[in-house]
Amino acid sequence: MSAQHDVKILFSEAEIAARVEDMAETLKHAGLQNLLVVAVLKGSFMFAADLLRSMHRKGMQPQVEFVHLSSYLEGTVSKGHITILKDIESDVSGRDVLLVDDILESGRTLAFAKDLLTARGAKRVMIGVMLEKPNKRAVQVQADLVGFQSPDVFVVGYGMDVAHNYRQLPFIGIIE
Ligand code: 5GP
Ligand code: MG
Repeated sequence: MSAQHDVKILFSEAEIAARVEDMAETLKHAGLQNLLVVAVLKGSFMFAADLLRSMHRKGMQPQVEFVHLSSYLEGTVSKGHITILKDIESDVSGRDVLLVDDILESGRTLAFAKDLLTARGAKRVMIGVMLEKPNKRAVQVQADLVGFQSPDVFVVGYGMDVAHNYRQLPFIGIIE
């Protein structure tokens, strides 16, 4: 079954929903205070929306902000360099922060974001990702919450794109 003819389902809507609920349950018991959730645009938007609604159902009251980061691809002048396209507006000093992203791959994006928020005085910076790709880490960074271990393939859907396509898919899939 595929809701978009050329995409094979890797993780279904139901599987994702169950994992998101588990992750929210873990967060509920993580002792987070004055929590600010920072979603890393664009790929995390669907995961962040689901996770936040699940957190709400469990009685949590996080604030929410967005950061848009861009990484230059290999082969360009600034290899592995990250730039801030859109910053958060809140002061994070003394606060617990949950960074939410779609995929942890090289780790450059999330290491940059975590270092940035830590340098700004965040008390604790947790990382939650929908997918983690194994054996891909270029820098030292660990996710506190992982939805699924992803096979080493290019995935789309559930917020993740190829050239702005497929983000709307409610499941995570592989282009056939
Ligand atoms: P890194 O951890 O390498 O700094 O960055 C991971 C980012 O690369 C993800 O947030 C995502 O934007 C992108 N990415 C990595 N693997 C995939 C993939 O399989 N599919 C899509 N659509 N994006 C990916
Ligand atoms: Mg990304």
